[in-house]
Amino acid sequence: MSARILIVIVTLPLLLLLVLAGARHAADSLAQSLAPPLPPPERGEMEIPILMYHKVNPDPRMGGLGLRVPPEKFARQMEYLAGQGFHTVSLIDVVDHLQWGKPLPPRPVVITFDDGYLDNYTYAFPILKKYGFTATVFVVAHTVGKTNTFDAGRQPVNKMAGWRELKEMADYGITIGAHTLDHPRLTQLSLEEARRQIKESKILLEAELGRPVEVFSYPYGKYNRELARVVRESGYRAAVTTEQGLAGPGDDPFTLKRVRVMGSYDLQKFITELVKHYYPPSPVEK
Ligand SMILES: [Zn+2]
Repeated sequence: MSARILIVIVTLPLLLLLVLAGARHAADSLAQSLAPPLPPPERGEMEIPILMYHKVNPDPRMGGLGLRVPPEKFARQMEYLAGQGFHTVSLIDVVDHLQWGKPLPPRPVVITFDDGYLDNYTYAFPILKKYGFTATVFVVAHTVGKTNTFDAGRQPVNKMAGWRELKEMADYGITIGAHTLDHPRLTQLSLEEARRQIKESKILLEAELGRPVEVFSYPYGKYNRELARVVRESGYRAAVTTEQGLAGPGDDPFTLKRVRVMGSYDLQKFITELVKHYYPPSPVEK
């Protein structure tokens, strides 16, 4: 009698787990079958998605789903990319490819995180490592190891990654990029102050991390032609905006488009958002 109860106690949770895992797998398969198909891998080498994330955090108190992707969703997205034969590359790889024709692996993708939240290290980094993926984290230099003072009052207080976490990620192969000193709207500053924000964040990060910082992300996506020139003159090799689209031939390396990933996306929506950029709308017939 007690043995039978024991068997039930042991097997019931196992069965439940199996059912749940099966349901998850079925839901993911359904999501993939309902989403539009990816282009063939060789086409993907010409147009490269640069995914844009901010927070990867399970805690709703850390912010809304506009900027916060729950780790479980992020994990499924990475699982999907790996399963479809995507290879993560760096922004420098992309620029070298676009400018000099440097070969890229099939289905290249760049994964980026803006601001430098501690949760990138806590939640996203282990998942990236699981798939052997790399990424780029754009850091607000003056908030490293502190909190997101740049959007105080508009967003909940979040911890930012410290130098120790940034160094550990860099040692693994994560690119650390700059996102200014204080996260201002660069277009609202004098050119001199904008130059200081762009240039000194690079110098500060390089001094602390002991490695070159070559990529930049415009806070709030605010940029113009002059600012793109300042970024180039400051010694960067590439910069990303928040404009939506893929990186492709003829693009200015200092105004690269990205693909936004929101926390509200299920896997099907993630695939749809990714794939739609490979197929631009056909020109309207006259
Ligand atoms: Zn930002």
